[in-house]
Amino acid sequence: MVGGVIKGVKVHRRDVVRDRSSRREGRLLSNHLGRDLTIERVGRRGKQLMISFSNGGGMIIRLGMSGRIALEDGSTRNPAPPHQHLVWVIGVPNHPERWTWMSFIDPRRFGGVYLFASIRDCRDRLLAGLGPEATSIQGRQLGDLLGRTRRAVKAALLDQSVLAGVGNIYADEALHRAGLHPARPGDSISAPEATRLAAAIRSTLRIAIQAGGSTLRDHILPDGSSGAFIEKHQVYGRGGAPCHHCRQPLQVLQIASRTSTFCSTCQR
Ligand SMILES: [Zn+2]
Repeated sequence: MVGGVIKGVKVHRRDVVRDRSSRREGRLLSNHLGRDLTIERVGRRGKQLMISFSNGGGMIIRLGMSGRIALEDGSTRNPAPPHQHLVWVIGVPNHPERWTWMSFIDPRRFGGVYLFASIRDCRDRLLAGLGPEATSIQGRQLGDLLGRTRRAVKAALLDQSVLAGVGNIYADEALHRAGLHPARPGDSISAPEATRLAAAIRSTLRIAIQAGGSTLRDHILPDGSSGAFIEKHQVYGRGGAPCHHCRQPLQVLQIASRTSTFCSTCQR
């Protein structure tokens, strides 16, 4: 997509887009969604996708609970799936006769597209308050962040202002890998434990990304395939089933209104 020119944009649902003033209603200009502009950069910060245009503006895409991006070759487009709210027609660089359809699909509409006018606007308004990147977190930094809170370590990991990029599945998997009980107060985590947890977060995310994530219900990769990480889950979704290490049944607890699954023998 990088280097491709956006030839057109179709808006089927206006309210999944928040304009540069954060409004979900009112007139939306298709050049704000990138029409006639070149895609300069595609990136990620925490759980949000970031697409920058050649005029310095761009958009943040949040998938929420059920959102996804689909990419289809321009010559083999399938019928529009339900809940397809936005479609971009993107030229393929160096192939003037070819194009890609990129669509934003979101049945439950907790996700959305957020427009920004400049990188600074994006950073100051849309990405403000995000903690450091989970994919590169180091033990000392994680220890400092957890040391400031008495909240359960699981609740702190889910808080995007503490650490950006960990959701419920990967918090449970990383805590299990590190041998830490999810209800432990953040400030009770020792320096060696924080080092273990940071390494577990990085490796859990790396392996999950390589596997395409975890398809539970709605998550589908841009090419339509499913994420295979669910087959590697040690704890998430396995409450009551035996722990793979000690064979004791896995326990379930509610922490920060989310289900936590863990082994009370292996996780202290
Ligand atoms: Zn166990």
